Amino acid sequence: MIADEARRHFAAAFGGEPALVASAAGRVNLIGEHVDYSGGEALPIAIQRRTAVAVRLRAGAKVTQINSGGTGGVLTIDHARLARRGKWTDYPSGVLDQLVGAGIDVPGLEVAVASDIPSGSGLSSSAALEVAFDFAVRSVLHVPLDEVSLALECQRAERQFVGVPCGAMDQMAAACGRRGHALHMNFGPLSVSTVPFTEQVLVVDTAVPRSLRASAYTERVQECAVALAAVRHLAPDVPHLAAATREQIDAAVMPEVSRLRARHVAAECQRVRDTAAALAAGERFPGHLALASHRSLRDDYDCSSRELDWVVEQAMRTPGITGARLTGAGWGGCAVVFGDAAALAALEESLPGAYAKEIGHRPRAWIVTADDGARVE
Ligand code: ADP
Ligand code: MG
Repeated sequence: MIADEARRHFAAAFGGEPALVASAAGRVNLIGEHVDYSGGEALPIAIQRRTAVAVRLRAGAKVTQINSGGTGGVLTIDHARLARRGKWTDYPSGVLDQLVGAGIDVPGLEVAVASDIPSGSGLSSSAALEVAFDFAVRSVLHVPLDEVSLALECQRAERQFVGVPCGAMDQMAAACGRRGHALHMNFGPLSVSTVPFTEQVLVVDTAVPRSLRASAYTERVQECAVALAAVRHLAPDVPHLAAATREQIDAAVMPEVSRLRARHVAAECQRVRDTAAALAAGERFPGHLALASHRSLRDDYDCSSRELDWVVEQAMRTPGITGARLTGAGWGGCAVVFGDAAALAALEESLPGAYAKEIGHRPRAWIVTADDGARVE
């Protein structure tokens, strides 16, 4: 178990036992992509892949001594001199910055991190790290926070400190996940409810480096801001882009790329509502909506890739598969596939070899189900 691994890393780095271990989950978004920062709706699940953080108070200077993965030595974060350094410690530093900013006097800490979430694949290892670290530190200091506020604190850490203009979905899923349920999230204004979801899904990581992603993501955020400003020219009361109707989007004067992005947002949010309604009614996941989502992301949002398109098309040729789409930001990263358990298992077997033959390197593939979010182990 990943919590035990964190304990082992802790003993190796600092000796003895941590005071506690907290963990948070990676996530897969079932549907509702590139809409959180536009005030839209999404339907993620927390998955069995997790990040665990072992923590203990230490006497002396107000610094965090931290190790991740048992390698790379112990790094020191000075609470009085928190600054972005362009490496992984920016995530815990960003959380410490929030805690200090909230008036919490954070004493010296010893921290060991272990994770089985592949990082940078779109399963949200960054949010799991932030949420697990925040939950562990708040727990050991006895300054608890409800899970939604915890998620929002971690989102602020990533936005303000790490400098990624992310929406709240990843941190919310990492913190608020529920086994056997998908999370129906609305980002404008924020609310979350659960709908039953006990199906397996297949996650395929295309294992493509995604150097373009950060700049392309920021570009999409800006294109959506342009679309919102244009819609508000006609309808000043529209609170966020996801609240704009297709008619308003079509009537407003804006660059064509912004109009395409806005059309995706409107259609995607409707698909999320339709999917959540189907699941709440006890129906199986509507695979055709996943496929429609993929096409919209590919054509209107322009965030797919040759590899993701190939995985989706290959999956759809498999009997028993009902739908597939890119998940996460896109431009590489992961796809998610829906269908019968037997069909998913067959695809998990056959797809990596076929992909390697076509694309030239092996992808990773896992079957996952909906699991719990943050917890003390
Ligand atoms: P994603 O969240 O989709 O995995 P990001 O680029 O947002 O991708 O976050 C990945 C980054 O988060 C890594 O490059 C690393 O800096 C940090 N990170 C995530 N998990 C860990 C971990 N267990 N240990 C150290 N750093 C981690
Ligand atoms: Mg991330």
